[in-house]
Parts: sequence; structure tokens; C-alpha cells
Amino acid sequence: MNFDLMTDSFDREHLWHPYTSTTNPLPAYKVREASGCRITLADGTELIEGMSSWWCALHGYNHPVLNNAVEMQLKRMSHIMFGGLTHDPAIELGKILLEILPESLDHIFYADSGSVAVEVAMKMAVQYHYAKGAPERTNFVTIRSGYHGDTWNAMSVCDPVTGMHSIFGCSLPVRFFVPQPKSRFGGEWCESDILPLKDLIAKNSDNIAAMILEPVVQGAGGMWFYHPEYVRKAAELCRENGILLIFDEIATGFGRTGKLFAWEHTGVVPDIMCIGKSLTGGYMTLSAVLATDDVADTISDNYPNAFMHGPTFMGNPLACAVAKASVELLLDSGWKDNVRRIEIQLNEELAPARELPQVADVRVLGAIGVIETREPVNMEWMQRRFIEEGVWVRPFGRLVYIMPPFIIEKDDLTRLTTALVKIVSEM
Ligand SMILES: *Cc1c(COP(=O)(O)O)cnc(C)c1O
Repeated sequence: MNFDLMTDSFDREHLWHPYTSTTNPLPAYKVREASGCRITLADGTELIEGMSSWWCALHGYNHPVLNNAVEMQLKRMSHIMFGGLTHDPAIELGKILLEILPESLDHIFYADSGSVAVEVAMKMAVQYHYAKGAPERTNFVTIRSGYHGDTWNAMSVCDPVTGMHSIFGCSLPVRFFVPQPKSRFGGEWCESDILPLKDLIAKNSDNIAAMILEPVVQGAGGMWFYHPEYVRKAAELCRENGILLIFDEIATGFGRTGKLFAWEHTGVVPDIMCIGKSLTGGYMTLSAVLATDDVADTISDNYPNAFMHGPTFMGNPLACAVAKASVELLLDSGWKDNVRRIEIQLNEELAPARELPQVADVRVLGAIGVIETREPVNMEWMQRRFIEEGVWVRPFGRLVYIMPPFIIEKDDLTRLTTALVKIVSEM
């Protein structure tokens, strides 16, 4: 394999890639095309997709139904401002979202990306309390090891260590953090997990606008699956103390955890919910924030009688059209059986990794499989090894994990899991 043919010198010199150096960047492999579960690199090397392009490409790439939705909408109108105008793609997507989300969340705010959705949700919470005559409720509480995006407020509720809050000093608002629940998903609930939140709320509730969390599955902050009882107890504490509850389902939405949305594992319906990532099946950036009547009406019935946010590309028709097609395709595709099948196979085929001295933990939920190693991985080496094995997997820190497209076939998934166990054993 000639790795030099897989990268690009202009890219290396001029294009910033996520979380890497400009002077000594990690390699960025050049992709020629992608179809189904296959990524084809510039030199013709074929890789099996293990990441769904960071949780997005549920149906794989280059899907005829999604391509068609984009093409049809493109011929009508790719964009139109949402201020004072509306259109079918936004309306149709809204209708289908309301069918699959909790009944009480019936006001939809379309935003551009996950991080922006989190910003919008946090602003909603603050403006809600302002409208209720509690302008001092401006802060937030969250769980350590979370990930909510990279813009300022989203970053402020990311894990302070992995989110590197120290670099940004006073420019970053200081939030309240509670420890990550130790009770595992599927394990026993340990009541002591909730005590730090109880304490913190007892002391600070007058200043807290909302609690924000990723229900049950913490994604990029640690790939941790925790006990649904934590969410139930946290919701009770929030309700008793006038604190709004925000669920960030940007990674967990659309079937990934075995339920259509992760709140279903808990039975708790939040006041505000963020969705994104796989909303468009990985075709375009789009997110949405859903809110209850109470949140929307309280904001709207008080000065300044409007929620103060309005992105330029709000409700982009092209993105809404493909999102609607993607959600319909998901609902028609037998996603539940697919995710269940993937979960069973991941459980079976990743289990041998538990015996490896390099491995601290193996966990699987829905179509997510995680090997946690004892030492941080050498990303450059490991990425190269995965390519040599013909798979696309991007590890970080002590986490080597996959979340394949739901359409992945058995043999392709076996190639992914085999590569995972093999390469971790070479660390
Ligand atoms: C990815 C992610 C975000 C941020 O979304 P972007 O589209 O990258 O801004 C926020 N929250 C969670 C849980 C995510 O996984």
C-alpha cells in the first residue's frame, strides 16, 4: 500500500482538519467516492465504513432515495429565507418529526448544526426564566464526560478536561458539573450516583436555568452507557426545583441506541430536546430543537414576545427535504431489526477483546460497539493499521469504537469487529 498516494499536499499545507496540527498534521486520507458501506480512497483502496461519518450516515452513502430527494428539491429551490416565508420541506419534515418525538414537544426550531442547536436550547432556557421573572437563572448544570459541541456555550458544558476548558480561561462561562454516573446501563442502579446532583441543586438551584445531558449514552466525551434511573432521578430533582431539562439527542437519535430516541430508555420527556447528526442521513448539516408549549409560550407571551435567535440558513429546504426522506426511509427500513442484529453481532464478536491485557472494558448498546483500552492509542499508527485491514475506524484517547450504518451486512461487520480486536491486540 502506498500511503503517499492517499493524501494531498495542498490539503496538508492549507486545510485545517478537526483536532490536528497545521504544522505537523495527522494524515487526512483522500476519498474519491463513497457508496453503501464502502469508502473508496483516491488510490482505489476500499474501506468498510465503521463510523457512519460521525453518527450521521445511517443508510450508507449515495442512497438512491436520498439522492432523489435532493435532486427533486434542487430543481424547485435550494434555499429561501425563513423570516416571513415558509415551505413544504420544512412543514413536511416538522410533521414527521412530531410523529416520532414525545407528544409534549411540539414546537420545532430548525438550526444549522448540532452545536448551534445546543446554543439555541441553552438560550431558550435562559429566556424562559427571564420571561418568568427569574433573570438570575442563567447557569447550567451537566454531567462530566459529556460532549455537546464546540461553540462557546456548547463547549462550556462539555467535559472540562477533555474539552480543554483550561485553554480558554475567563472567556468561557463556568458551569456546574456533577460526576459521571458509575451505574452501567443494564447493570445495577447505585443510589449514591445521584447524590452529587442532589447536593449541588440544593445549594445552587436559584441560579440554574437548566440541566443538559445526553440521555443514557455519552458520545464523544467518553462513549459511556449509564443507567436510565439516573435520568429519572435527575428529572425529578429538576422538576422539584424549577430547573428545565434539556436532552441532547444529537448523537443518540434515530435508532442508534436500539430505541428511536434514547429518552425512550428512561421514560422521561424533557422540556427541550436537540436532534441533529443523522437527521439528514448524513447528507447535509441540519439540526432541530424541540420545545414544550410551556417553554415556547412562556417565551412568546412575555417581553420581547419572540425567541431571540434566527440563523440565515434556518429551515434550509434542501436539508429539510433530504431529512424528511431519510426519516421516512428509516421508519420503512426495519431499522429496529437491523440495529438489534448489529447489537447481537457486536456483542458476540467484540467479546474476545475482554481477554486482552490492553483492554479495560468492552461495551455495546444498539449499533454502537466500544473497546476501552488501558492506555491512550497512537492514533496515526492505529488509523494506518485500520486502512491496511480495509476498514475505516477513527479512535480517540482510550476509545476504539464503531457505529456502522444500519444497512451493514454481516460479513462487513465481521471484518470491522475482527480488525478492531486484532489491532487493539497489537497495541
Ligand atoms: C456531535 C455532537 C454535537 C455537536 O454537533 P455539531 O453538528 O458537530 O455541531 C452536540 N452534541 C452531541 C451529543 C454530539 O454528538
